[in-house]
Amino acid sequence: MSEKKPFEIARETLKQLTAQKLVPTPTNYQAIYNQIAGIPIVQPFPADTLRDIAKSLPVKTPGQQKQRGLLEYAIDRMNWDGVKTALVAYGSFSPLTGGDDSPTSPVVKASSAAAPSLTHEFFGQMGRLIEYTQPALGSDDERFGEITKNLLTALRQSGADVYALKTMLVNYSDRVSFVAEDQAEIKKTLLKLLHLVFENIAELSLDEQWLKGQMDALMSAATPPLTLRRLDDVERRLRDVIFKQKDAKERAQQAQSEMRQMLATFIERLSDMAKSTGTFHEKLEENARQIEQAKSLEEIAPVLKEVVSATRTMATHSKNSSDELQTMRERADQTDAELVKLHQELDRVSAQARHDPLTGALNRKGLEEAVDREIANVKRKETPLCMALLDIDNFKKLNDTMGHATGDVALTHLATVARECMRPQDTLARYGGEEFVILLPDTTLDKGIEAMTRLQRELTKRFFLAGTEKVLITFSAGVAQLAEDEAGAEAIKRADKAMYLAKRAGKNRVLGA
Ligand code: GH3
Ligand code: MG
Ligand code: MG
Repeated sequence: MSEKKPFEIARETLKQLTAQKLVPTPTNYQAIYNQIAGIPIVQPFPADTLRDIAKSLPVKTPGQQKQRGLLEYAIDRMNWDGVKTALVAYGSFSPLTGGDDSPTSPVVKASSAAAPSLTHEFFGQMGRLIEYTQPALGSDDERFGEITKNLLTALRQSGADVYALKTMLVNYSDRVSFVAEDQAEIKKTLLKLLHLVFENIAELSLDEQWLKGQMDALMSAATPPLTLRRLDDVERRLRDVIFKQKDAKERAQQAQSEMRQMLATFIERLSDMAKSTGTFHEKLEENARQIEQAKSLEEIAPVLKEVVSATRTMATHSKNSSDELQTMRERADQTDAELVKLHQELDRVSAQARHDPLTGALNRKGLEEAVDREIANVKRKETPLCMALLDIDNFKKLNDTMGHATGDVALTHLATVARECMRPQDTLARYGGEEFVILLPDTTLDKGIEAMTRLQRELTKRFFLAGTEKVLITFSAGVAQLAEDEAGAEAIKRADKAMYLAKRAGKNRVLGA
């Protein structure tokens, strides 16, 4: 101990703090003070922190519970040795290390020393794995369902016989291989059936161009590899087609039956008229004969009366028929106008659908929905999203030199190549005349530019034929990666600007925004 008085030690401490340029915190003051006074430096016991740690230690076994109690006891007494002993002992009771906690431990006792680490938790995990994969295997095979149920029960039992479990697992895996094969085959066959249905609808509606385009798009959307995104797309397209076809059919049928009815009435009236005209003629001939044979005016008078009456009847009849025919003509005109309206409406509904009938790509409305969906994904998964805008080069010239029909083929060709070249999760939309937007989820700007360059290269390799002439098309594109909190339309606008710069720089190139 120092001989110095406390106030001297205090003064010296302050001096030292200044000399050593130490921050005058209580800890620094205490350390220097103890040093000068010759008192050993003892770190304060962090009781509160240790208590927090003790509280967060899980107690899964009675052994662990006991050791945690001992740890808290040692902390209360600020006993470092006690803390150390309790922590070391706690560690040996971890379920993973299989500590000696036998009486109530949930550890499965393996019947052989070869499998000491197969714990109840491990089997539980295996059970969960089997349970999670079960929906993918279907529930058609009853025997398999039974095997699965028994295996799950056995896996969840503590103290189960490992060898019995192994036999059950082997049995289960054998069965799984058959069931999985079956499910894959079922999926393939269902898809084939779906294609057949599509083909059939397309065949039935050969005269409906808009419907045919939709059906072709459906066929390509329902081609493997299938993803939930593509199936969702198939579902929405099918709904559009069903809705439109049902509506069109019902209204066309109604119009047709009205027309048929009117035609029948018209024929009936014609034959009525022919009949009554025939009767009138016969009557007149008869009257003419009577007049020829008449010898006096008295004899002619009743005949004339008859002629006048027959003519009047005939005139009334004619007028009635003519009125009726006029009404029918008006109704026919009305039905005709309704049919024209129906076709206009069909065109309008078709335009409201989400797909462009020529290329099968999404239209503006479909694109808006797809953008919303992808942006929601970006927010949920925090992944990058790229939007590319491409515009065919010198398309007007192609139309002018080879005709509008060839221009249309070029648009379809571009859509086909793009679809083949893109990943299933990418989305193709027709943005305007010869402009397309491609959404590339999980893609950074660099990768987006790469993907568009790849499409460009692919397009230069693949020409299409206009008659015997080979036609090659190129495009210019801009790619933008969606920024945080940026609206989809804004990103497309940036891509559009980059595309414009690509045109200015000489066309047939891809630029990032
Ligand atoms: P640039 O290389 O600068 O893009 O020039 P461009 O000729 O491709 O572009 P411009 O915008 O001058 O012409 C686009 C043409 O696309 C004009 C229009 O008639 C044509 N077009 C738009 N929609 C269709 C369509 O559905 N079918 C066909 N065949 N042509 C279309
Ligand atoms: Mg353009
Ligand atoms: Mg163009």
